[in-house]
Amino acid sequence: MILLGIESTAHTFSCGVVKEGEILSNVIDMYRPPEGGIHPREAAEHHREVAASVIGEALKRAGVKLSEIDAVGYSKGPGLGPALRVGATAARTLAVKLSLPLIPVNHCVAHLEVGRIVGAKDPVLLYVSGGNTQVISFSEGRYRIFGETQDIGVGNMLDKFAREASIPFPGGPEIERLAEEGRRYIELPYSVKGMDVAFSGILTAALTCLKRGERLEDICFSLQETIFAMLTEVTERAMAHLKKSEVLLGGGVARNRRLQEMVRTRAEERGATFFVPPPDLCVDNGAMIAYTAELMYRAGIGVSPEPADRRAPSCEGPPRLPSPRPPLHNAPHHPSPPPSRPHPPGPCGTSGPRPPARGRPLSPPCT
Ligand code: AMP
Ligand code: MG
Repeated sequence: MILLGIESTAHTFSCGVVKEGEILSNVIDMYRPPEGGIHPREAAEHHREVAASVIGEALKRAGVKLSEIDAVGYSKGPGLGPALRVGATAARTLAVKLSLPLIPVNHCVAHLEVGRIVGAKDPVLLYVSGGNTQVISFSEGRYRIFGETQDIGVGNMLDKFAREASIPFPGGPEIERLAEEGRRYIELPYSVKGMDVAFSGILTAALTCLKRGERLEDICFSLQETIFAMLTEVTERAMAHLKKSEVLLGGGVARNRRLQEMVRTRAEERGATFFVPPPDLCVDNGAMIAYTAELMYRAGIGVSPEPADRRAPSCEGPPRLPSPRPPLHNAPHHPSPPPSRPHPPGPCGTSGPRPPARGRPLSPPCT
């Protein structure tokens, strides 16, 4: 079974091809604005321009013909409306043209599910990207958010700070490099509110330090130490609450070695296992969409792409049925419950353990 996945939630248009849980290709084209932040319409224009060549390149690198694809997955959200529309339109065009099932994938769930590639089976995910900052895990038959930012995403905060410090987008990697040369810790607001975090006050304080003429390396060092400690704290609390013994990093900021070190240290001190996917599977990418779409497809989740205004929630009717398939060798992700305690399957057709429920369901689920 071969699946093609399209990602276009924000600045990145990407296409990946997956066969039986193995990633054959993952082509990523990131929009870099000439100046300022990312405007949704400009990102969408970029995606429209590169979509055909990125999809073509992904097929070429995978050594797969369009006619060999069994289903098409795409990022359904959350994301920027105009950018999402480009990916959804490209996916739907392919699905209609080739009479294939279409599989709408929750972007955040894809960041969690792709953790299987590196061996994570039932992790707490610290998802840290440009627009998103969330602690997510599978609990009581649902993917749930246990903590999140109350204002901006952590990557967004780093990029905003970088812009004021004349560091080009994306700012995170250069801030990481500068932080290694930091010598002095400057106190910044430590903003943890229960299971949530907030970054705008820290950003204002860091910008004040910049205006005051503090050494840029020291500000970057202090920024990283503060925000990564906050993120590590809420992740650890979620692990304790859920009694989970795996932690997974996802999102572009997960590439940061200092964050990896902090989360790994805390995980190991708790006797838990730490996982981080390779860099190209941390950032927004089409391979994780194709990978998650395959899990969903095997569980019988998908939609018929026509008619557009009356899409069936199930896979009945033409074109082709994405009927339940045997699971991948490393699935299910979550252990089955004892037969005496049945509960509804998860969005990817899996069943989960039943620790005490907290956290709200991740919206929207993959249905
Ligand atoms: P994503 O939205 O998941 O594609 O990730 C993009 C975000 O990751 C941007 O905000 C980048 O600044 C950030 N980022 C990428 N590499 C690093 C790094 N090494 N350290 C911190 N942030 C990073
Ligand atoms: Mg992402």
